[in-house]
Parts: sequence; C-alpha cells; structure tokens
Amino acid sequence: MATTTPRSHAKGSVLNFNLSPTEINDIVERLISDGEKLQNTVAAQVSPTFDNVIVPLATRENEKGAENLVTMFLQNFSTDEAVRDASMAAEEKLNVCRILLFQIKSLMREDVYKVVRAVYENPDEMSKLGPEDRRLELSTRFNRSINKNDGHEAFTREELDGLPEDYFDGRETKDVGDVTKYIVTTKYPDYLPAMKLAKSESTRRRLFYADETRCPENILLLQEAVQLRLEAAQLLKYKTHAEFIFVRNMAKNPDVVLEFEQDLRTRLNVLADQEISEIEALKKADKEAAGEPYDELFSWDFDYYVNMVKERKHNINDEEVKLYFPMEEVTRGVLDIYQEIFSLRFIRVENPPVWHPDVEMYEAWEAEEDKFVGNFYLDLYPRAGKFNHAAVWPIRHAFTREDGSHEYPVAAMVANFPKPTPSAPALLNHSDVVTLLHELGHVLHDICPITKWGRFHGTNTERDFVEAPSQMLENWGWEPEVLGRFAVHYKTGEPIPETLVKKLVATKNSCAGLLNLYQVFFGMYDISIHNTTDGQTDVKETYLRQSENIVSFKNGDADTWGCATFGHMMSGYDARYYGYLYSLVFSADIFESRFKKEGVFNPRTGMDYCNMILFPGGSHDSMVGLEKFLGRKPNNKAFLRSIGLATD
Ligand SMILES: [Zn+2]
Repeated sequence: MATTTPRSHAKGSVLNFNLSPTEINDIVERLISDGEKLQNTVAAQVSPTFDNVIVPLATRENEKGAENLVTMFLQNFSTDEAVRDASMAAEEKLNVCRILLFQIKSLMREDVYKVVRAVYENPDEMSKLGPEDRRLELSTRFNRSINKNDGHEAFTREELDGLPEDYFDGRETKDVGDVTKYIVTTKYPDYLPAMKLAKSESTRRRLFYADETRCPENILLLQEAVQLRLEAAQLLKYKTHAEFIFVRNMAKNPDVVLEFEQDLRTRLNVLADQEISEIEALKKADKEAAGEPYDELFSWDFDYYVNMVKERKHNINDEEVKLYFPMEEVTRGVLDIYQEIFSLRFIRVENPPVWHPDVEMYEAWEAEEDKFVGNFYLDLYPRAGKFNHAAVWPIRHAFTREDGSHEYPVAAMVANFPKPTPSAPALLNHSDVVTLLHELGHVLHDICPITKWGRFHGTNTERDFVEAPSQMLENWGWEPEVLGRFAVHYKTGEPIPETLVKKLVATKNSCAGLLNLYQVFFGMYDISIHNTTDGQTDVKETYLRQSENIVSFKNGDADTWGCATFGHMMSGYDARYYGYLYSLVFSADIFESRFKKEGVFNPRTGMDYCNMILFPGGSHDSMVGLEKFLGRKPNNKAFLRSIGLATD
C-alpha cells in the first residue's frame, strides 16, 4: 500500500500558525476574559449540577483547546524570536485559565472536589492557590532556557578524529591563528555523534562539560518548582507531590514504583557488571596505546565505549548501516507500514499552511470506509531556537459536540534528524529509525481515538501507560521483514543485505544493562525529589550522586549540573518519568503475545489493538483494554526476556 499522491487542500481543522505577537496577545486576552466570564456564570449557579457546571467548563475546554495549544506551540517552533517570546508570555498569562482547568480536574473526582470546595469556601486557603501561577512560569522559563542556551566548543580536525567525513560538510568554522576550528554545539545532531565517535577523551570531556554546565539558572527554578508542587499537593491533603500524581496512574503509589525500579536495578546490575568489565578493558587498551595512565570510567566515556562494545562484538559499523536509511524512504516506508497494520490511508497535503518550509502536513483517513480521521504535521529537521528533542504535540484534541458534529484531531511530530548535506541526502542511524517508529506511534495515538471529551482524547491516558503504544511499535525496527520494506542504499537503491540485517538485529541488547540502568537512574531521581514531605532534597547534588551510584560512571572534578537540562522535570513528567520503563512492561507483553505471534503486518491484530487500546484513549482504565487485548492480566515476563534477562 503506497502513500497516496499529494493533494492540494486539507480536510479537518485548518489551523493558523502564522500569528504575529499582537495576534497571540489578543487571543490570550480573549481566552482569559472568556474564561473569567464563564467562571462567573458557573460560580453564580444556585443549584450546581453536572450539566450546569462541568459541561460548560469541559465544553469550553474542547472549543478553546486548539487556539490555546497553537499559541503555546509556537514558543518552541516559530522561526521568529518575537513570536517565540510572545508565545512564552502567553503561556505565563494563561495561568488564569490553567487554574480554571485545575478546577475541572478536581471536580471530576468527588473526594478531590470536596477538598477543593472547602478550599474555595475558605478565603485564607484561596490565597494559597498562587503557587499554580508561579509553577507555570517556572516551567516555561526552564524549557526556554534549555532550547535557547546551546553550549558549544571549537575543535581542530584532529581533535574530532573518528567522526565521518559528512560530519564536517557545511559545518561552521572559525580561524584561530592559522588553525581552522570546527564549531560543535550541544544540539543533538552535533553532540551525539561526537560523544559516540570522537576518539579523543579530552574532546568528549570538553563537550560533556559544555552540555552539563548549560542553563545554571535552571537549578533554582527546578528547586523552586519541587517546593511549589509539594505545596499544591499538600493543599489537596496528599503527603507528597508523587502521591498526588500517582492517584491517576496505573501504579497506585510511589512505593510500588520504587520496588519496581529497585528490583529491576538488581537484575540489571548482573548484566551491567559484565558490560563494565568489557568497557574497562577497552579503555585500558586505549590508554596503553596512547601511553597514558588509566584512571576510571567517566560519563563522557559512556556513549563512546557502549558504541565500541557494539561495533567490536557484532562487527558492525553505524556509518555503514546509515547508508541504507535515507530519511525520505524510511519515513515513507514507516507510514506505509502503519497504513497497512492500522487500516489507514495517509495523504500528503501540498503547500500546507505551516510554521516553517521544512514542515510536511498529512491527512489520515480510514482505508475501508473513506472516513476522515485527522491531520498531522512532521517537522523533522533541526534549526535555531527549535525544541531540541523528538516529541509529538497534540495541537487539537478530537471531541463530539452536543449536536453530534465531530471536531477532528491534529498532532505535530517534531524531531531533530540530520539534515541533508551537499554530498548526501539525510541519512538516519538505526536508532533514529526506531525514534521515528516511536514518535509516529504517538501521532497515531493522538489522532485515532474517538472520545466525546477532548480531555480524554488519545494520549490523555495514564502517564505510566501513555508510552506503551509507541514503545510497542519500536519493535518493528528490529524485525527483518520490516527493515526489508524500506532499507535501501541511498546511492545504488540496493536493498540492505541480509547479513547486515542479521548483525543489526543481534545488537538489540548490546549493553542493555547499562542503558536501562540510565533509565532507572532518571526514574529514581525523579521520585527522590518529588516524594518528600518537605521538598528540601537538593536537586543538583542528588542528581550527581545518584547518577554515579546507579550507573557507575563518574562525572569528574568539574562542577556540573545535569539536572538543569533534564527537561522532563519541567514538561509534565514530574513524578512520572518512571512511566517510560513501567510502560515498557506492557508494551513488551502486547508485542510478544499478539503481534509477534500473529504477524507484524496483520491488520486483524491491528484492528483489535485499535479497538481495545488506542480508540478509547483516556476514557477508560487502560488496564481494562489491556486485559481484553491480551485475554489475561499483563505480566513482566516478555519485558524481562526482551532485554535479555531471565524470568523467574
Ligand atoms: Zn514517547
């Protein structure tokens, strides 16, 4: 099934991304005044009921969602700094509306509702609602600082020995005396290859420090956010912020998660000990060859030696593999596969109204019934001032109006894949291919579900389940029959050789112990700072101590503060980061028990999956859909097997 020919008009919501700072400001002022008016009307109800309180609030949330989300979206993606600033100011102003949303959230549950009502009836307590405003301002400043403040270093060609030819194509340089130096920033497409391939330890150390000493102002912002989250949770009678968050998750309290992380950590250490000895041997040999003394393993050695273990053990080279993953073919291939499994049809829109010329827009339709599903955008290449990870933004949630008419969903996938160079098209690493499968999975999760209320739409599900559908789709990146569909040499068009696919698949669990321990560290750090009753845990010191304790790579003598660029802590993953590992358990079970058995292109399995897991979104408990799909309760056996651990 091929991606259908482009069309020149778009169905569904036509959103305007071309907003001036004044227009953004006007929209926000209107949202705020409409919000206040509605709040007044609702508050004036003499006999409050679901219909005269909740319905008007949630309906407004449905209708205003898109405008709100577009104005927020631009702060990370607009090419115009004035627009990015206006968008950020808008988010800060909208705290008034957020309090309104906060109110709806609380009203959805009777027990919380009672507390909130008591709070509203008490003028002293009302004055404490301030932290919500401040919290929001902190998070916008924190993430803006990460996007804006790139570190960079200048290196000679020798200092970057180990990096491939195309790394230097079109790279910015500066002359120091008669020496030409290459500028390497801490943006992913610059930073990751250098950390993985630069032979010089001093180069990797300088870059690591450049990255870990960015945004010093963020340390205090995070520390303050932790305190304010605790205050807000305690206002609602929870002991800690984590306890408050967990009420709406699959795992019902932080102890369950700590036990999960601790158990996994013990199991992973068995693998990691072995991996560390292999890495020590490699570094010792390098040091000996260079006539330098060996000291110990540092954080800047991590990516370099993890990659070396993989290359040596499996006789594979990422640069060779990359030649078979030209960006365009891979994207088209993945979209084709998703169309097949999920019985969808994607149509690319020509000359769409977008926020940058790199951005593509697609319509999604149901293949059989010719029913429109929603729109999505792909913004895949890096540029200055842009959000610097890969993620998907829901820009409009689907919902159904009282008259039965339906609003269609819109989502945007944003990534920073390598750009084409003068000598070659954009070529992806295999890990980029897996990222693409993952993020496009979020797009599907966002645009496929059918719910009445926008707030239950798609990815608005339990935070420790929301990653499962995307993680499940990462498995497609390791199936030879899937790779055979789109992996072709960018010059010759030859399909990827079977021997290379075999070697690639064999690397799946290379250094799985250490790589997963990193995730355990992030999860445990997050719980450590968010599960205290006094909010006093030092965010900077705890980060350094736990990273060294759990992952066993040292940070060196320089003063560093990795917590300042841990964007998840300020973008809605607070006390929820563990969800990445936690939902892997579900994703592995879903994949192994059904798709692996019934076929990775099987549309009947795909349909069951859509009906039981994707379509209901957050409108039901995910456990219900999961048990229906599996025909039993989920367990962790498939997950342990998938990372090379024994099951017991
Ligand atoms: Zn994800």
